[in-house]
Amino acid sequence: QEAVVFQQVDKIFHNETVALSNFNLSVNQGELVCFLGPSGCGKSTALRMVAGLGEPTNGRVHVFGYSPKQLLEETNDIAFVFQDANLLPWKNVLDNVLLPLRLRGGNKKEQKKEAIRVLKMVGLGDYLKAYPRQLSGGMKMRVSIARALAAKPKLLLMDEPFAALDEITRQALQLELLDIWQKEKMTILFVTHNVYEAVLLSNRIAVMSARPGRLSSLMDIDISFP
Ligand code: ADP
Ligand code: ADP
Repeated sequence: QEAVVFQQVDKIFHNETVALSNFNLSVNQGELVCFLGPSGCGKSTALRMVAGLGEPTNGRVHVFGYSPKQLLEETNDIAFVFQDANLLPWKNVLDNVLLPLRLRGGNKKEQKKEAIRVLKMVGLGDYLKAYPRQLSGGMKMRVSIARALAAKPKLLLMDEPFAALDEITRQALQLELLDIWQKEKMTILFVTHNVYEAVLLSNRIAVMSARPGRLSSLMDIDISFP
């Protein structure tokens, strides 16, 4: 039932920057864990490694018992949401969400049903035919989250997804994400440098040190939801 395991991971880039150093962490299935720490402490490097983007210099990363590369190539269990929504401007909202499903193949009617279901869940049921340029930043981020959810990933990786949004939109999306997490019951790794966001969202916080790439502590956050 372990979803993600980092075992004594070092990451040293070619220019000798040490991004992670003896990093150890184990995340159980169904957890929402935030990676919290100042800029440059290695949060993105750790997250990207889970997605198979970058190998550890030393040590190992396992995701559902696979290596990240295997998981990426052989399954559809991982989805990534970045700070930038990365939508295709010439495709409407529905087609943006459908794109990864279409690339995979399968029953088109079912795919469309699922895309509409997740778009309704993020509050965009009335915007299926809208184009990205017609949407606010918060709505674009909702499309990006819907696109990730449509693939029904077991693991959702989010790298500062709300950092570019205004405070009110950010709060709305934080609460929506908690709601989605409870409904869809997936594992989420969430990178942030915002203490408030980490405490609000996660059931565990991996606090990373300004000394690059060290895990300084693990905090359990005990919030019981109604
Ligand atoms: P964070 O996400 O916590 O801001 P990063 O994981 O992006 O931190 O970066 C950790 C450290 O690794 C930083 O010092 C950063 O400059 C460095 N770094 C990240 N990516 C590369 C790269 N491709 N080449 C060299 N150094 C990098
Ligand atoms: P759809 O399948 O929704 O019709 P397409 O991908 O076929 O969308 O492209 C729709 C329009 O976008 C076409 O006019 C095409 O030339 C244009 N287009 C396709 N790829 C790009 C791109 N990389 N940059 C800008 N425009 C593009």
